[in-house]
Amino acid sequence: MKKVAIIGSGIVGICTAVELINRGFSVTVIDPNQPGSQTSYGNAGVLTDSSLMIINNPQLLRSLLSLIFKRKTSFRYSKLFVFSRLSWVINFLMFSKKKHMELAAKALRELQVLSLKTHKKLIKNTKSNNNIEAPGWMKVFKTKLSYEKYAYELDILDKNKARYILLNTAEIKKQFPDLQIEYYKGVLFENSLRVKSPIELSKNYFKYFIKFGGSFYKEICKDIKFVNGHWTVVLNKNKKIFDEVVICAGPWSKDFLTNLGYKIPLAWERGYHHHFSTKNDIDISPAIHDVDGGFVYSCNKNEIRVTSGVELNFREADLNEKQINEVVQKLKTILPLKNKLTKDPWLGSRPTIADSLPMIGKAPKHKNLWFNFGHNHIGLSTSAGSGVVIADMIENKQTSINIDPFLPDRFIL
Ligand SMILES: Cc1cc2nc3c(=O)[nH]c(=O)nc-3n(C[C@H](O)[C@H](O)[C@H](O)COP(=O)(O)OP(=O)(O)OC[C@H]3O[C@@H](n4cnc5c(N)ncnc54)[C@H](O)[C@@H]3O)c2cc1C
Repeated sequence: MKKVAIIGSGIVGICTAVELINRGFSVTVIDPNQPGSQTSYGNAGVLTDSSLMIINNPQLLRSLLSLIFKRKTSFRYSKLFVFSRLSWVINFLMFSKKKHMELAAKALRELQVLSLKTHKKLIKNTKSNNNIEAPGWMKVFKTKLSYEKYAYELDILDKNKARYILLNTAEIKKQFPDLQIEYYKGVLFENSLRVKSPIELSKNYFKYFIKFGGSFYKEICKDIKFVNGHWTVVLNKNKKIFDEVVICAGPWSKDFLTNLGYKIPLAWERGYHHHFSTKNDIDISPAIHDVDGGFVYSCNKNEIRVTSGVELNFREADLNEKQINEVVQKLKTILPLKNKLTKDPWLGSRPTIADSLPMIGKAPKHKNLWFNFGHNHIGLSTSAGSGVVIADMIENKQTSINIDPFLPDRFIL
């Protein structure tokens, strides 16, 4: 039986581990932290097959000046970080082309359709149904102008046969009477799900992995070395030997691949969340993406989680509460928020490759080494599908979807 090590137990590592254990491999997950406790902990819980628009789309260049010079709740940046990662930033902007957007949308649609199907099976097998609501995701627009700007994304969705329902002001009001303001338009994604507690989902999937024979070393992987046809994984005090290694370390993936001579075009987009209680009972089941404000809010009974947009900053830089605090001020006009339930905001770093597509596949310079990271804003949605294709590739089988746009060797690493 082939021995596989998975480095990183975020939702991507967990789903990869579950898929491999289901196919009969001997699988060990290595992580100094509890499974699902890092970036995968604090997301907005959207599980969709229709998140096709990448950030570096052709519209980005048009709004670049306003992003740089105007204060926005959706986007903040540290000048020092941008200068220190200038080549990544330029590379990222260079991908803002129509041709790349179309390629990315098609590839992401295939991956997300596979992923949603796989998540549904896992949800059933792990008895996680009570953690799921449907439909799970809606985008809302405050003004006619902001909705008109969305025409490009609707066109992308239509071309890729994504399913959604358009709601007008009255329909939004009728379906969600707890909202205190009027939205001009809503786009409800029919196939989407919402995970009420992403950490509980990770824990359930991980329990399933352990139940079916998986192992977990709660240790940091310090290095990996290819010696005599096998991979040596260097832990704190000892070393372990494996046939195959899959790197699923999210925003940390680049750190130890540099030792192996890879130049991975990976940075991160930080994001925050806060939790609030509400003044009265609230019932809104999809996560709502307020497009004008650039934030997402979701509701579990009378508890609201609100997640912020993007902050480009050093991964380990201090919390900067300004952005999420401004989001909270906006949310107070939308919902009757009462008390803050989290003292400090939670902070996570979305791992982002320069072309906004995850890196899934064989490491270009090494045998039996696999990459599965860079899932940026949609890692909960894409995780299960990425596990399936990694397992297909390790088994040397035809992959279930076209994997070319995700292969690491699309870059010269
Ligand atoms: C505010 C916010 C909202 C989001 N909302 C959504 C959403 O609604 N839907 C969606 O699909 N996605 C969403 N995302 C994105 C999603 O959360 C991420 O894409 C996803 O969690 C990435 O998972 P991961 O497993 O790659 O990374 P992580 O969860 O960060 O896991 C990486 C793991 O690697 C481990 N690791 C690091 N270094 C080492 C080492 N040396 N040795 C061993 N282990 C190591 C870490 O401890 C960590 O556990 C959101 C993200 C944010 C920040």
